Amino acid sequence: MGETVIPLADLRYAAPVPAIPAQAIPATGLLADALGRPLRDLRISVTDRCNFRCSYCMPKEVFDRDYVFLPQTSLLSFEEITRLARVFVAHGVQKIRLTGGEPLLRKGLEDLVAMLAGLRTPEGAPLDLTLTTNGSVLARKARALKAAGLQRVTVSLDGLDDAVFRRMNDVDFPVADVLAGIEAAHDAGLGPIKVNMVVKRGTNEQEIVPMARFFRERFGGRTVLRFIEYMDVGASNGWRMDEVLPSAEVVKLIHSEMPLVQLSPSAAGETAERWGYAGADGQHDPSLGEIGVISSVTQAFCRDCNRARLSTEGKLFLCLFATRGHDLRALLRGGASDADITSALAAVWGQRADRYSELRAAQPADDSAGGRRVEMHYIGG
Ligand code: SAM
Repeated sequence: MGETVIPLADLRYAAPVPAIPAQAIPATGLLADALGRPLRDLRISVTDRCNFRCSYCMPKEVFDRDYVFLPQTSLLSFEEITRLARVFVAHGVQKIRLTGGEPLLRKGLEDLVAMLAGLRTPEGAPLDLTLTTNGSVLARKARALKAAGLQRVTVSLDGLDDAVFRRMNDVDFPVADVLAGIEAAHDAGLGPIKVNMVVKRGTNEQEIVPMARFFRERFGGRTVLRFIEYMDVGASNGWRMDEVLPSAEVVKLIHSEMPLVQLSPSAAGETAERWGYAGADGQHDPSLGEIGVISSVTQAFCRDCNRARLSTEGKLFLCLFATRGHDLRALLRGGASDADITSALAAVWGQRADRYSELRAAQPADDSAGGRRVEMHYIGG
């Protein structure tokens, strides 16, 4: 029988501890990076574990029974997450997304939601508090999450055909249970719900139009279905450019069956391009709903990127494609004060110049960098 060895120090994700500047940098809510981009959106990975083994994210061959996930003591506690989140909010974060791994696998997640729901921006506004989930246990948890203060959810679903979906999640999980989760989230008031479909050419492109039709007819304006280009995140999924189906083709396919009109962005830094279903008059009919396309490969959107990612064990990543983080947990557990962490974060964000996707568009993918990139389940999707 194979033995699982849990290393005392996990060196997979070694990261420098940010320096605390000698001169304090107080939070003004207006922090900007080296390219003038504000800090508005924080994604927090609450677990590196997932009950799915999607081939494009946590392929079974790599994330098998011998794979060593982070030990419980490595994870940030809810108190530590909330303490860091408060600092981020003081610097300008307005939106927090809980993710993972599968965030609903983290025990007592509602307690964390309630703690984060109590935070206020410098202007006194509540946060836009949301969560991304594979929907597998959403039907059971939707009400408690709403009661704790969660505002909305994004649910991932890569097809309506059971055979295709089961092949993609690779744990034989049925479509019907995810749909039940989406219904329960609606009933609990966790809307408007976004549904994310990763499109992999040659795997699930035949699901694009059926998904669009289903969500338009069943939910109309109550959900936004978003098509995500298959990205070269992490180092395990064997990404190939020829498996990326450009968003422009997705829009063309849907438009040929159900006419679409382009909509203006609803917020600065929004990742999705919006397209609304046209009514008989050729104008957008909001009751029919809209779709979004996220073209992170074919149309990089680094210049508006206002997102930071906090890994399961408290490392700050400034880009989804980063190869190293900044160890905020070391500050938390090393006795730094809130003022120290505020200054350290200001210095790290102030030097941020990452724009991986734009550079990738200009140069062919660099395999050696790909080998070092952190996995999405660890830094959060
Ligand atoms: N377990 C949750 C879920 O399934 O939504 C949250 C974590 S998951 C990493 C977040 C999102 O990232 C999902 O919508 C997933 O489909 C997407 N994702 C993962 N790997 C991807 C890749 N290589 N390209 C594009 N999207 C990806």
